[in-house]
Amino acid sequence: MDLKAQVLAELEDLIGVYKKLHANPELSGQEAESCKLIADELEACGIAVTRNFGGHGVVGVLENGDGPTVMVRGDMDALPITEETGVDYASSVKTTDSSGNEVGVMHACGHDIHMTALVGAARVLSKCKGSWKGKVLFVGQPAEEVGAGAKRMLAQGLFEKFGYPDYCLATHVIPQIEASRITVKSGPVMAGIFQLKITVRGVGGHGAIPHECKDPIVLAARIVTSLQTIISREINPLTPAVITIGSIHGGTRANIIPAEIVMEATVRFSDPDTENHILEAVERTCRFEALSMGIPENLLPVVEVDETMRLPATINDSDLVDIVREAAEENIGTENVLEAEMLMVSEDFSLFRTAGSKKIYSCMFFTGATSAKEFNLSREQKSKPPSLHNSRFCPPPEPTIKTAVTVMTGSVLKILR
Ligand code: ZN
Repeated sequence: MDLKAQVLAELEDLIGVYKKLHANPELSGQEAESCKLIADELEACGIAVTRNFGGHGVVGVLENGDGPTVMVRGDMDALPITEETGVDYASSVKTTDSSGNEVGVMHACGHDIHMTALVGAARVLSKCKGSWKGKVLFVGQPAEEVGAGAKRMLAQGLFEKFGYPDYCLATHVIPQIEASRITVKSGPVMAGIFQLKITVRGVGGHGAIPHECKDPIVLAARIVTSLQTIISREINPLTPAVITIGSIHGGTRANIIPAEIVMEATVRFSDPDTENHILEAVERTCRFEALSMGIPENLLPVVEVDETMRLPATINDSDLVDIVREAAEENIGTENVLEAEMLMVSEDFSLFRTAGSKKIYSCMFFTGATSAKEFNLSREQKSKPPSLHNSRFCPPPEPTIKTAVTVMTGSVLKILR
């Protein structure tokens, strides 16, 4: 079968699907229309579909004789960002944020491309059943941006109901690469994450009488700088890790020493040992910085892990990476298959790999999402194309979708041939 011709035959219609999804983005947990669109598209391919599974998730099962099971996952949610791309299919959807302010909704992380790739793979695979044997699970996953969707689908019994996959595939767009190319690598490709709330306590009082107080602002400042030495002095420089204090709140007036400061931190890591080390080191640092300032035991800082946003690193298994790389080289050309760099952002795709009792081979590859013209222009100007989560992020539909569908479908075909 001629994969390139099959993808080309679907391309124009897939671009239409993409533009519809792009113009109608839905926030995490609200993906009702996207769910319906994906489910209808899969059903039109003759695939057995379950709707609204684990929130607005979609599960399509395509069975075609004896063989392994491959899961293809596309995430579905958009972001509270007002689109500024200026394209004629731009989103004008608005919503109200948690503070009551009106804000736009935008597919600024390319999940509309991921959904389109899922539909494209379903169309091609359902039309060439003579070229493969086995089972494909098509999973439209909601609520990726808040780290909740994969967890919820798995908790609902995704694999118990539809079968454990032997292989798990996903792609994410990446604007740092031209749209005709992909990158992939073995090992960690996206960081694991946990987030912390640190409540720094002291004894409040008059700003002019500090010796009768315990100043939590000074303590918080010490903790912020000391936490940075965990990465620079305790973690192997060759092991990627990040600690960022993203918010710090406390105090009301210049002459009042407050009783409490609240800080929030995000932590990124690539393996469980580093994760455990950082968590222990944060607790130790907070405790001993407080003790060094004479804070009593009953007022030591409280460190809380936000379990809703805790995910392991996304790990690619080399056996499956080899298959994806081969499939890509055959179908988009060796020169268009590059070695990926690990990203310190996080993904809940990581949860599927470890959800079974036996190993599920897993691979996320990255699909380039910047046109060649814009790529060269930004290179000349020593600038960078708009990043993911930017209001101007605008993948060129044709080459991006073509590349994503071709490599995704080619990889499934290689596993199931
Ligand atoms: Zn994303």
